[in-house]
Amino acid sequence: MSDSISRRQAFKSVAKQARFLLVLPVVQTLLSAFAPACAATTTARPKGEEMNLDDIPGTLDPYRLPRHIVPNRYEIRLEPDLVTATFAGKETIALTVTQATSAIILNAVDLAIASATLEGSSSKRLEATITLDDLMQRCHLTFPQSITPGEWRLHLNFQGKLNDQLRGFYRSTYKDTAGVTHTMAATQFEATDARRAFPCWDEPDFKAVFATTLVTDPGLTAVSNTFIASESSEAGRKVVRFADSIKMSTYLVAFIVGEIEATAPRFVGKTPLRLWTVPGKQPLTPFGHEIAAASLKFFEDYYGIPYPGGKLDLLAIPDFASGAMENLGAITYRETALLVDRQSATHGELERVADVVAHENAHMWFGDLVTMSWWNGLWLNEAFATFMEMLAVDAWKPEWKRWDSFGISRAAAFSVDGLHSTRPIEYPVQAPKDADAMFDVLTYEKGASVLRMLEQHIGPTVFRDGVRDYLRAHAYGNADTNDLWVSLGKIAKQPVPELMNGWIFQPGFPLVTATVSPSSGLTIKQQRFSYLSDEESRSSQDQRWQIPLQIRVTTSGKTNSSRMLLTEKEATIPLPHDWESILLNEGGHGFYRVRYASELLDRLLNTGIDRLAVTERFNLINDAWATTVAGLMSFTDYLDLTARFTTEQDKNVWAVLLDSFSILNRIITEEDRPALEAFVRGRVGPAVAALGWVPRNGESEGTKQLRGELIGAQGKLGNDPAIQRRAAELYGAYRLDAAAVDPNIVPSLVAILAHMGDATRYEEFHQRFRTAATPQEERRYLFSLAAFRPKALLERTLARTISGDIRTQDAPFLVSAVLGNIYGRELAWAFVKTNWEKMDHLFPKQGLRRMCGGIVSLATPELERDVRDFFTTRKIDLGGKTVEQYLEHLRIMVNMRERDGIILRQYLQDNREKKPV
Ligand SMILES: [Zn+2]
Repeated sequence: MSDSISRRQAFKSVAKQARFLLVLPVVQTLLSAFAPACAATTTARPKGEEMNLDDIPGTLDPYRLPRHIVPNRYEIRLEPDLVTATFAGKETIALTVTQATSAIILNAVDLAIASATLEGSSSKRLEATITLDDLMQRCHLTFPQSITPGEWRLHLNFQGKLNDQLRGFYRSTYKDTAGVTHTMAATQFEATDARRAFPCWDEPDFKAVFATTLVTDPGLTAVSNTFIASESSEAGRKVVRFADSIKMSTYLVAFIVGEIEATAPRFVGKTPLRLWTVPGKQPLTPFGHEIAAASLKFFEDYYGIPYPGGKLDLLAIPDFASGAMENLGAITYRETALLVDRQSATHGELERVADVVAHENAHMWFGDLVTMSWWNGLWLNEAFATFMEMLAVDAWKPEWKRWDSFGISRAAAFSVDGLHSTRPIEYPVQAPKDADAMFDVLTYEKGASVLRMLEQHIGPTVFRDGVRDYLRAHAYGNADTNDLWVSLGKIAKQPVPELMNGWIFQPGFPLVTATVSPSSGLTIKQQRFSYLSDEESRSSQDQRWQIPLQIRVTTSGKTNSSRMLLTEKEATIPLPHDWESILLNEGGHGFYRVRYASELLDRLLNTGIDRLAVTERFNLINDAWATTVAGLMSFTDYLDLTARFTTEQDKNVWAVLLDSFSILNRIITEEDRPALEAFVRGRVGPAVAALGWVPRNGESEGTKQLRGELIGAQGKLGNDPAIQRRAAELYGAYRLDAAAVDPNIVPSLVAILAHMGDATRYEEFHQRFRTAATPQEERRYLFSLAAFRPKALLERTLARTISGDIRTQDAPFLVSAVLGNIYGRELAWAFVKTNWEKMDHLFPKQGLRRMCGGIVSLATPELERDVRDFFTTRKIDLGGKTVEQYLEHLRIMVNMRERDGIILRQYLQDNREKKPV
């Protein structure tokens, strides 16, 4: 399509200019990388000057492979050895060569390639000289003669290691009930790690058919993307040959080998759907199986296209770096995201499983059938899957009110997108680490939020039909953002790019300020929202968006809703003379914040906030808090506003309030803490008293969840002794009989007891973590180890994160949790500094990146300086703008402390004198 080609060409021309600079370092890298990695290579070592790079048509872009050779089909045979943690591989790749060349470049890293031969129409085989470039993660094959355009078959033999970094083809271990350790092997290829398992054209638009064969011990089970075509035996080994896949990207290929067990298949149309676990965990599959079937059916109907694979397996892997991975037909999960016990789980834990399962199923179309052309378009996969997961879960359990809790996701996107160091949803990506850094709230949550805004603007049916058109037009191929706009615009019969490009290709989002005057009416103004006002924010003042505004005006008790598109900086709307109140962003779907002039806010509050919908209340308090952090609303006004919510019954609205209280807890001084605790008790106490400790008949899941959250906040942030005593009693009852207590309050009981706990309690919780019956229980007790207060206990927790005691999929998150504990943050920061190299080596990259997010809790000027020094002097790069974002976030926290500390202290003191608790 036109736009994608022009963007790609634009990128290439930049690379072309840089070519002169690039060639020399590449050749040097080839030479220096050769010796250690190529130990198994049998062919002679080439001299760098003999590599004629001009043989490779086009530009030698360091991150994109040349396009003159295209893979069509991979026949891959892998023989993993779980005992030695190695694998042997054989591969035949059918290629189309479009321009004569004597070199082939493809991706490979951490593989020893023993031989590479090329076979054409004649029987003569050409043997390649192999050079590995570890830095660029490439394999260069040079041939003694020119390869002519046409069809060729490339044969490769290689060896690799099953690594412990949870990427590529890796090893996962688990203990059975007798304490015996078992090993399995699994894969995680997205974004750019298929090249660690087999040499390949590891870019999403090199789609091909995959025919996989796995050779294993006879006692093991092998799963891949497709049905088993045949099973045989060779020299005492089991040979499992899988059917051909659809044409798809390398990052979607998957292999899983181990002692794993499956549920009986459940059929959705023609598709058998199974859930796989390690032995003993099958009882935890029914809930996941149910949402998997429901969402698969939902998507077949919504997309109007049958599921593109032959079968669908969902596999729980004991070690897994992310939440789940949408490998076509063989979706892999971390255990907490798939396996759950319906009886003992909280509503939040069930919702998490439902969300992730629906999300991955949505990807079978968005991502797998139609794939972004390159990583800059990742949002086309992830934002859509996030949006679709909401639709599917909402259709499955309307009573969960999933779109209400989507406010939390939108708020997470706002908090990063309010930074100067944010990025547009679609953003140029080159190096693999930058592709990895695209998996963030901007791609997922901001992307899904702007899709929701668009869907509400053009209407759900028109939106769905546009999506169907897009999927049909690009099935089995790749697409760019503009392709989506073309389809949506065609069906909507309106210019979608003009509306949407500002949201996708610009960083940040608008703050809409509403003022009113008797002469002119309502004036609305847009400007980019910013937490910190400095030079840069002034320069971004001219940014504009096309904002779909939905405005509700209440007049004499009647409401009148209207829609408009704000395209200019400012607009004025006449008002009826007897207007009572005005609400902007009615329904709450818009991706912008609203700031009301005080008269407007007073009128809105006086009409009764209980008359607002949940998302509208959510936005009201969330926007108020954000503008307070940005210094645009006074702290006193915000804290007074929170008093209006003491009778609030919605868990999402409360989540904003509680989050703001816990941020205050991070920025106040030690001596102000008792006053803050009293303030929290004053705000939360009435709601806890109204809800009680026991669910009432007919109560919603949301209310049960809210009870748990409020009790937790009152016991920890409020440090309320009565709540703490009751929590200890109930926990005792729960230990005797798990059914004695509603599951939704159990996490809070555990958290409160950890908060109050001593060494005995610590050992008890550590033991419970070790022997937990469900992944959720295991996680709960594991994270409780970060919530104790005594330093000696937190030191034990930190030590465990690098001792091999805790899975590396969880360890970085645990460190982050100790960083977030005000009693342990300095300790944790010192630990991170001391053990950085070890953690960098041990933890999955994604985990390390998330761990560093914990630094935003280090909200004192001294700690901030130290953090900044550390990241700068060590030149730590977490990909994309990650480090800049964390540091800016920390700056905002410290800035707030310096700016408002005295006002906050005064307010809390006055509050304490007014209402002693
Ligand atoms: Zn996804």
